[in-house]
Amino acid sequence: MTIYNFSAGPGMLPPSVLRDVQEEFLSFQGTGMSIVETSHRSARFSDVVTSFKTRLSRLMDIPTNYDILLLQGGATLQFSMIPMNLTRHGRFGYIDTGVWSKKAIADARRFGEVEVLATSVERAMWAPFDSVTSESLDYLHVTLNNTIEGTRYRDLPDVNVPLVADVSSNILAERIDVSRFGLLYAGAQKNIGPSGLTVVIKRQDLAQATDLPSYLDYANHLDLLNTPSTFSIYVAERVLRWMEEEGGVAAMQEKNERSSDIVYDYLDRSDRFRALVNGASRSLTNIPFTTGDVQEDKVFEQFAETNGVVEIGGHRSVGGLRASLYNAMPEAGARRLVDVMRAYEEGKHVSHPDV
Ligand code: PMP
Repeated sequence: MTIYNFSAGPGMLPPSVLRDVQEEFLSFQGTGMSIVETSHRSARFSDVVTSFKTRLSRLMDIPTNYDILLLQGGATLQFSMIPMNLTRHGRFGYIDTGVWSKKAIADARRFGEVEVLATSVERAMWAPFDSVTSESLDYLHVTLNNTIEGTRYRDLPDVNVPLVADVSSNILAERIDVSRFGLLYAGAQKNIGPSGLTVVIKRQDLAQATDLPSYLDYANHLDLLNTPSTFSIYVAERVLRWMEEEGGVAAMQEKNERSSDIVYDYLDRSDRFRALVNGASRSLTNIPFTTGDVQEDKVFEQFAETNGVVEIGGHRSVGGLRASLYNAMPEAGARRLVDVMRAYEEGKHVSHPDV
């Protein structure tokens, strides 16, 4: 039975990439040494970094006046690196759309004054303004896709300060117009590769601060400052290669739209399950849902697991159920999830041919 992993992160990676990595693990490019034994300063590894950046630039259509930084510390370290590096007046704008933006706000408060310009109302995405005129803000931060709440931005606010976005759970899953942003950042472990790598895409003229500790200063990461997460970068480069072969971000987005439509359509018709988010703010990648009963959600989670649908528990802060459909999740995974929900609802066994 094929197992479909609906985890919100670390998420499912393409099986063909995992097989290639396994095959090459003992001898990286025929050197007789593993990638995890290879120097980060070697020409071979440097080629991997260059290939990663070239492929990401192509996939996301990143303009030439942006730098790609490969960091560690997860998206979480960016919650402080951003205010530290982008500070000019020490005033930062945030839109509070959920758990992750609240964490970003809490860290930014250590480095200046935070203005929360809008707050989401429960699970509906709410952006009650479309322009920010206050030039005294150093930037405006938004979380483009809220992994826990299952909401996302469709229309960005029009702002005259640099827009900074956490794209951890939607990078490469849907088109993002990089040129509208001053800085984008994402932990790799959902759509890019293994954990341990954080990608920052930053317009070159941004970041004013000086005198920061060496690792925390963006300016020091144009070349490799210290030993990066070599294995994560190596696997991530393979994932980007796979994505290009599959047709790039447009193909990923189309597949993700088909898959999430399959799940949302079922949830909207079901008597037993319902989605927690309605309308235009529904996330493409993270679908929180419930039976309406905490105990029954747990029973279904178990039932799903025995039918090859794993990691569908909601985030520990909110409970319930959640299906994350990142790029490596095939449409067949979405269909399996719906088959399993239908079988549960009808009190039957799962009839999927591949179960
Ligand atoms: N932001 C968002 C939107 C996330 O989904 C996550 C992790 N799930 C984080 C930030 C934190 O990322 P990390 O674990 O890489 O620090």
